[in-house]
Amino acid sequence: MTNIVVLIKQVPDTWSERKLTDGDYTLDREAADAVLDEINERAIEEALLIKEAQAKEGQDGEVTLLSAGPDRATDAIRKALSMGADKAVHINDPALHGSDAVQTAWTLAAALGQITFDNEEPADLIIAGNEATDGRVGAVPAIIAEYLGIPQLTQLRKLTVGDGTVTGERETDEGVFGLEASLPAIVSVTEKINEPRFPSFKGIMAAKKKEVLVYSLADLGVDPDTVGVANAGTTVTASTPKPPRTAGERIADEGDGGSKIAAYLVGQKII
Ligand SMILES: Cc1cc2nc3c(=O)[nH]c(=O)nc-3n(C[C@H](O)[C@H](O)[C@H](O)COP(=O)(O)OP(=O)(O)OC[C@H]3O[C@@H](n4cnc5c(N)ncnc54)[C@H](O)[C@@H]3O)c2cc1C
Repeated sequence: MTNIVVLIKQVPDTWSERKLTDGDYTLDREAADAVLDEINERAIEEALLIKEAQAKEGQDGEVTLLSAGPDRATDAIRKALSMGADKAVHINDPALHGSDAVQTAWTLAAALGQITFDNEEPADLIIAGNEATDGRVGAVPAIIAEYLGIPQLTQLRKLTVGDGTVTGERETDEGVFGLEASLPAIVSVTEKINEPRFPSFKGIMAAKKKEVLVYSLADLGVDPDTVGVANAGTTVTASTPKPPRTAGERIADEGDGGSKIAAYLVGQKII
């Protein structure tokens, strides 16, 4: 039996215009369309594949979603449930606004300590994305591993659950590494792990009835003075929007197109 918690985050859609709030530089969540982060769809897909493979062998297992976010994160949670996850926990507390990665991981770790399954045991496996599309800190899974004192396998492009173990292929610029850890463990996955399924009509209807537990910081025993923008260890001190993309340089091929492109790339120090 492998009970799994998937960490999911609602993020501003990368296709809409994203901006920071004047003053404290926190993300202006109202300014952009919000979506379930695509990397988290892949994390859910992996959890469902593990559950389905184990079901074929007659083993039980559950997939629970965990998300810290404001009211509108409910939409991302419902979408994730419609993919096939069993239930969800939503940490929703205004004091979390502007929390940095350490505070977010602290809060998620507190919730993970409270989530138990039918066997009264905590999750065997926690699956996260390797990097959220908005904050792009890429550290929350590692910090949770530290708080919970469990092994972490990060940046996995392949993941297999065995008897009491998880193995995976970690891909970095240096190469591909084969890794193994004992369960319980936390892993993070990259966009190469799988292609996430689309929610079916049946899945969308079923999601409406699935349980979503809403926790405040008080429910988790997290002191509000340890989280939020005012208590964060890291602060965004300045922000400059990227200049808009220019039209680029057009090269007409009059027999010398190749050398013109090569000269351009040399000028840009690309080759
Ligand atoms: C422009 C900008 C810059 C920022 N810079 C920093 C910074 O330099 N340092 C810093 O500490 N914080 C920073 N933050 C805050 C950051 O967005 C939040 O603290 C955040 O939740 C953690 O960082 P991340 O989402 O980038 O985490 P990552 O470590 O990139 O996320 C990896 C995975 O962890 C899980 N996860 C992350 N957040 C949640 C959540 N809320 N609920 C459930 N699962 C989650 C998801 O599975 C996700 O795919 C920044 C925010 C913004 C908008």
